Amino acid sequence: MSKSPHPSSPPRPIPSSILIIGSGAFGLSTAYALARHPDFKKTAITLVDRHPFPAPDGSSIDSSRIIRADYADPAYAALAAEAQEHWRGEWGADGRYHEVGLCLTAEPGKEDYVVKSLENVRALEGLRREAASAEGGGEGRSRGEGTNIQPLRSPADIQAALHTGGTIGSSGYLNLSSGWADAEASMRYLRALVAATKRVAFLTDTVARLLFSSSPSAPTKVTGARLASGTSLTADLTILAAGAWSPTLLDLRGIAAARGQCIGYMRVSADEAARFAQAPVVLDLSSGMYVFPPSADGMVKVAWHSFGWANPVRIAHPERGGVAGASGHAAGTGEGEGEREGEEPIITVSVPRTSHQRPAQQPIPREGQQALHAFLASTHPSLAARPFARTRLCWYTDTPRGDFLITYHPRYDGLFVATGGSGHGFKFAPVIGDKIVDILLDKSEVMEEGGWGRRWGWPTERLAEGGWTLDGSRGGGKGMVLESEEGGRRAEKL
Ligand SMILES: Cc1cc2nc3c(=O)[nH]c(=O)nc-3n(C[C@H](O)[C@H](O)[C@H](O)COP(=O)(O)OP(=O)(O)OC[C@H]3O[C@@H](n4cnc5c(N)ncnc54)[C@H](O)[C@@H]3O)c2cc1C
Repeated sequence: MSKSPHPSSPPRPIPSSILIIGSGAFGLSTAYALARHPDFKKTAITLVDRHPFPAPDGSSIDSSRIIRADYADPAYAALAAEAQEHWRGEWGADGRYHEVGLCLTAEPGKEDYVVKSLENVRALEGLRREAASAEGGGEGRSRGEGTNIQPLRSPADIQAALHTGGTIGSSGYLNLSSGWADAEASMRYLRALVAATKRVAFLTDTVARLLFSSSPSAPTKVTGARLASGTSLTADLTILAAGAWSPTLLDLRGIAAARGQCIGYMRVSADEAARFAQAPVVLDLSSGMYVFPPSADGMVKVAWHSFGWANPVRIAHPERGGVAGASGHAAGTGEGEGEREGEEPIITVSVPRTSHQRPAQQPIPREGQQALHAFLASTHPSLAARPFARTRLCWYTDTPRGDFLITYHPRYDGLFVATGGSGHGFKFAPVIGDKIVDILLDKSEVMEEGGWGRRWGWPTERLAEGGWTLDGSRGGGKGMVLESEEGGRRAEKL
């Protein structure tokens, strides 16, 4: 039995079976933490994903993700610093992590995030130094004049830090303790860790809907999932970790929403790759644009951390039985699929539209393409006129303040939600599973005031998306939508 945070409430029983939906960073990290946790040693753990691993359009699968403790919020900065210790160890081995530095920049009047982030990483660097000297390790791995953090006070300072011939922003700083990870390789590493526990059964199938049971005497319970293949999986506890697809399986309106983000990949020559090899990752927090040094396959990746594009689709209410699902799977009327009262039969939610559904090249909105090019023209002038070899819309699961959503469902027993990555969840893969399991067990240290369990809990109200501020790091305009179906290249303001 796990401990309850409230002396008066009974401890939650340990489930004898757990079904995890989604094998991205959140689902796999959860599976790994559960598989190693002694409380769950008798629990049967199943992980289902709609694709054989790795999911080609999963948000965790890509050539790169930024690994940084550079957050304006000190709590995320500290958690990221904890995760980074893993990236510097086994997680980052075999070329999975590159600590090449991160250059954060901004324009006058938009420096708030950068200023706060600088304060936080300086404090963290101080702590690292203290720890290193307490262990007799001197100053640790600092470069330059004893610090890994260099303020950049002018465009010329930034240009010198970039090593690309270009510049962006008016001021900022370079943090040599940050870098980037090969996301797909890191997920393969995590998948192998999970497989090695021999505790998790992996299944490939699409969850068409959650299974609900209710009776007049008991609260509604989620009892597992109905699969597109027609079979059902039952479990004492279902963990929804389907990333940007989660809002198609549960009504998350006003709580979490899928937003498409633009990425461009540009091929560079071997000479250019050598020239840019010293470049840090660059993240401009006035525009939300960022660019990575060339990957091993000779691609420079540039992307836009923006408010993103919605793809509104009318779908059958996921918590209502008996109607066709978003992807056209017959929801069926099997056992335990009673309708919940008071819910509209059809709702509109943003549903990811990915290159997997649209073979060949996934077009990104023209505005996104232009913004990526304009940014590259500043940071890498020699690449200004080059076309992208490939573009991609990758999907964030945004929440109103950019916090993750990691919590039991307030209304359905047997359902736990682990999503809401909000465009910054990947770096936490080495530690998020343990936090998820702590919350699942109602551990008092995470559930008390100020703990992650409270912060990532189910919100007290659903907030209309116009009121979402995210975490202050996004660029671009709010309220963009992909044009429906055929004209998927253009975007309009809502
Ligand atoms: C463009 C982009 C850039 C980013 N950059 C960074 C960064 O630099 N640093 C950082 O830390 N984070 C970054 N992030 C955020 C990070 O990648 C995500 O927060 C994280 O990967 C989300 O993981 P997830 O497990 O929630 O989702 P996913 O990785 O998408 O996993 C969800 C899984 O659920 C499966 N699934 C969906 N529906 C079903 C269904 N019905 N049935 C069965 N399976 C289903 C999918 O196939 C998928 O494998 C970025 C994200 C994007 C999109």
